[in-house]
Amino acid sequence: MTDLSDLQASFEHAFGSRPTFVVRAPGRVNLIGEHTDYNDGFVFPAAIDYDVRIAGRPRDDGEVRLWSALFGRRARFMLGSGRRSRRGGWSNYVRGVGVILASEGYPLRGMDAVVTGTVPLSSGLSSSAALEVASCLAYEVAGDFSIEPKRRALLCQRAEREYVGVQCGIMDQFISSLGRADHALMIDTRSLDYRPVPLPSSGVSIVIGNTNKPRGLVDSAYNERRAQCEEGVALLQDALPGIRALRDVAPSDLERHAAELDPVVLRRCRHVVLENERVLDSVRALEAGDLDRFGLLMNESHDSLRDDYEVSCAELDAMVEAARGVEGVYGSRMTGAGFGGCTVSLVADSAVEEFQSAVGAEYRRRTGREATFYVCRASAGAERLL
Ligand code: ADP
Ligand code: MG
Repeated sequence: MTDLSDLQASFEHAFGSRPTFVVRAPGRVNLIGEHTDYNDGFVFPAAIDYDVRIAGRPRDDGEVRLWSALFGRRARFMLGSGRRSRRGGWSNYVRGVGVILASEGYPLRGMDAVVTGTVPLSSGLSSSAALEVASCLAYEVAGDFSIEPKRRALLCQRAEREYVGVQCGIMDQFISSLGRADHALMIDTRSLDYRPVPLPSSGVSIVIGNTNKPRGLVDSAYNERRAQCEEGVALLQDALPGIRALRDVAPSDLERHAAELDPVVLRRCRHVVLENERVLDSVRALEAGDLDRFGLLMNESHDSLRDDYEVSCAELDAMVEAARGVEGVYGSRMTGAGFGGCTVSLVADSAVEEFQSAVGAEYRRRTGREATFYVCRASAGAERLL
């Protein structure tokens, strides 16, 4: 994690004075509940101890001046100007949050700000949501107002959708804003109700493995899966008129009407319906302290994403299989949309070193690629540090 004194020094270097505040917002990993969000279902992410940090100082002239410590670049804009910057893509996340907050009437003030962070970019850990949520909190502190965390998440999601132009769900901003140390959050993506569920505070780590495989097919396959889920709902509605989304379909209902669905659509629906059940089972398992059961559910989730939803790939499968072969691993699965990106494994602390060397070597042997590992703990959501 970036040291606070380094960040203060970097601010002094960029702006010639001391910052009056420092905020952070974390990246995230989804432990289970994949491809359920656009079916009104359940997700189960944890905020991780990799975050975006912003050191700032308010200005009275309505200007925002930014220094990106990661990119070594400046950006500046006037509050109230909705213009996108083509050159500084990174600054658009900060601008976008400002535009949305202004449109909602929040009393924004300008600021000088240094942006830095440890969330790996474009690796599936949602550095973009972390940057949006950190930006929102920076505006709150600079302008001396505060936004309720769930509302903050919704406003940041709007910034990403309406300003940056990525049609994301609510999970990433939600967990970055509301995460809790040593907990995962079970989020109902329909009602936005959520439930913090304890993870052991010692003894086990969340290990994220990046396949470093570019996620080529993601967009078209994602749209196709969404359409297949909608088709399943439309067909099932004849027999089950009360349903609005796959979230409303019980496993027994799906079994009963299996013959009415095209076999591919049936498999897609089965993944979503059972994945929602697995999230609820995971909550029960963790609340009972049953890590073995939770690990099994993670494994089942991966197998379902591989066989029924068909969004895994050789690299993800190789990494998951290698992980499951290591003693001390409770469970391992792909996380994120699929076709590359990351795996998440629950690993006994005593096995974390062995995990990285054994899985790294086996993954290299099977794919010719290098893996990158991030050993995480579940961290708090957005907060002011100074
Ligand atoms: P992901 O959210 O999976 O990490 P995205 O492509 O959605 O990937 O967002 C990554 C982009 O977010 C980066 O290219 C950069 O523009 C911006 N970003 C994230 N973190 C930072 C940071 N610490 N400093 C500057 N820009 C950042
Ligand atoms: Mg993103």
